[in-house]
Amino acid sequence: MLDGEQLSYIVSQACRHYQFSKAIRQRAWVEIDHQALADNIRALKGILAPQTALMAVVKADAYGHGAIKVAETVLRAGATWLAIATLGEGVELREAGITAPILVLGATNTTEEIEAIAHWDLQPTLCTLAQVKLFDQTAAKLGKILPVHLKIDTGMSRLGTRWEEALPFVSAAHAASNLNIASIYSHFATADEPDPSTLNQQHQRFQEAIANFQQHGIPIPKLHISNSAATLHSTALHYDLVRIGLSIYGVYPAPHLAAQVSLRPVLQVKARITQIKTLPPNTGVSYGHRFKTSAPTKIAVVGIGYADGVPRRLSNQLKVLVNGIFAPQVGAITMDQIMLDVTHLPAVQVGDVVTLIGHETKEQLTVDQWANQLGTISWEILCGFKHRLPRINL
Ligand SMILES: *Cc1c(COP(=O)(O)O)cnc(C)c1O
Repeated sequence: MLDGEQLSYIVSQACRHYQFSKAIRQRAWVEIDHQALADNIRALKGILAPQTALMAVVKADAYGHGAIKVAETVLRAGATWLAIATLGEGVELREAGITAPILVLGATNTTEEIEAIAHWDLQPTLCTLAQVKLFDQTAAKLGKILPVHLKIDTGMSRLGTRWEEALPFVSAAHAASNLNIASIYSHFATADEPDPSTLNQQHQRFQEAIANFQQHGIPIPKLHISNSAATLHSTALHYDLVRIGLSIYGVYPAPHLAAQVSLRPVLQVKARITQIKTLPPNTGVSYGHRFKTSAPTKIAVVGIGYADGVPRRLSNQLKVLVNGIFAPQVGAITMDQIMLDVTHLPAVQVGDVVTLIGHETKEQLTVDQWANQLGTISWEILCGFKHRLPRINL
């Protein structure tokens, strides 16, 4: 006889298997290559300065890759810190049993949030003197010493106290009896640009601010300032930690930084052909008839659309791979479906897999290509793939 626990285990395994096989047979999905992810972590660690630890930035559901699974893989591969943007993202990781230190990059301004930070053992970013006071009071009430990370604005003009006004902020945090300064950090605005002058200016401001704190008797904790681009730019910017997001997912922040390290894309987007038909010449395709056939044309309907994160602005410009061969998407991209011209592919069948982002044989389709076509950045493309696409972890 099975006891209840054994039975529920078997049922949960069966459900998981069913979910997987169901997902793989779905109309569309995202594949996450955990081997590539782990290899990217190891490659990036290989170019870090000797004292530098790798903080994997897994905000926004790990840039659309699935935060829990990504966190597990990157920690196993040698990342020692995680960073997220919101409290909810941190709680999700803790509830999944992840125990690594987690930095919250976003701001925390209420007592309730501070209590949650303390409860879930997350490490907050403090940006202002007001936050130092609120955190110190709340920590005293909780009877805890809270680790805090102080953000200095050296020119991004987003979160943080500006470098030339930061001494009172940092001194107050140092004097606060219920706070422990775990790090002081800043963030670059232009690290992905080939011209390093603004980056150098920000770095200089950071160094000056740190020297000033030191002169005023503040012990210097861990320091960090580098995102993916700055990490690839120079080891002189690595300090104690680097906060790497984009590049752990195998995407380069800029073409001129690609020679620094060899990375592989982690995410692929795939969908299935759901119907095939041949249209006569001069037939309109999709909403608005923004494409018209000029000859007899074989059309494949594919089960993915803008509600899955395929930008409608790519209508009539998107290119996909079908069995290793490029095929153009034609007509307007609709909410749930797109159409391909597969006249040149006599063997295609309903059920065949189409790659929108990814690689087949020697060909590849990248988020950089979409970003260039759309006049945006690869970060936004990655974050755009919706939860309607199940994530299949390979
Ligand atoms: C998102 C973020 C990062 C990671 O940036 P990438 O360019 O994706 O490496 C690092 N630091 C901060 C403060 C961030 O908000």
